[in-house]
Amino acid sequence: MRFEIITIFPGFFAGIFEHGIVRRAQAEGLVTVGVLDLREFTHDRHRSVDDRPFGGGEGMVLKPEPLAGALNSLGIGTKADRNALAKEIPVAPALPTLRVILLSAQGRPLTQAVARELAGVERVVLICGRYEGVDERINQLYCDMELSIGDYVLSGGELAAAVVVDTTMRLIPGVLGNDASGEFESFGVADADITTGEEGVPRSQYGSGGLLDYPHYTRPAEFGGLRAPDVLMSGDHLQIRKWRREQQLRKTRINRPDLLEKAVLSAEDLRIIDSIHPESK
Ligand code: SAM
Repeated sequence: MRFEIITIFPGFFAGIFEHGIVRRAQAEGLVTVGVLDLREFTHDRHRSVDDRPFGGGEGMVLKPEPLAGALNSLGIGTKADRNALAKEIPVAPALPTLRVILLSAQGRPLTQAVARELAGVERVVLICGRYEGVDERINQLYCDMELSIGDYVLSGGELAAAVVVDTTMRLIPGVLGNDASGEFESFGVADADITTGEEGVPRSQYGSGGLLDYPHYTRPAEFGGLRAPDVLMSGDHLQIRKWRREQQLRKTRINRPDLLEKAVLSAEDLRIIDSIHPESK
């Protein structure tokens, strides 16, 4: 999978992808990340990438021409051109799957489900806005989606692009040491959708089915006057699974009750949720 990031601050990404899983995924050739300096696609003496907004008001807007130039340099035409080309070449493998994404506070929320969808795409181009944002015609002409990483305003799309790369990349098969890790974690898939198979090694977890993860503990058993839950040291896989499921339901009920509306829940889950006081810790 290839990520391409278009930014006015290419230096921002120096070092950011050189740690942990992202670094390993690149070293193993599973992921490549390219960074394009938007100023390379300007043609004036000042290398201007921004201009005043039509209609007045505060701030500046990223001009469309350098962005179109950067996209064209990647061989990416407008959506209309891409659709026309796709019709001419009906054999799917001839064209790598592509998503052009504009990072924007006005975008649809980045969720684990969106990251899972992107992990199946061969090429993802990320456009980082700055100032008041990007001339809307770039969105209209080139972008397949606008993505927001949360309900707050960043000063630029670079942090958001790094978040998209990290979240997506770890869901590409082969990137995590154990692919099932991406299923047994916060916002993971439901038991019924787990592909690793009930028949394999006995699992001590439930697929989260859209819930938050359960709390984790490691040695020592006693720390700061608190003891790790005895059940986790009991070796009883059934009881461990039950305890973890209860904890997932508890955390979700307390911290993210909105997630319960879409989660895959059994009658037993609903009974547990009813017994949790939302104010409890
Ligand atoms: N005027 C814009 C608005 O109110 O929605 C905010 C522009 S912001 C200062 C500059 C750039 O940061 C945006 O163009 C976008 O690329 C990026 N950005 C800001 N917040 C973001 C978020 N929550 N998710 C993704 N990108 C964001």
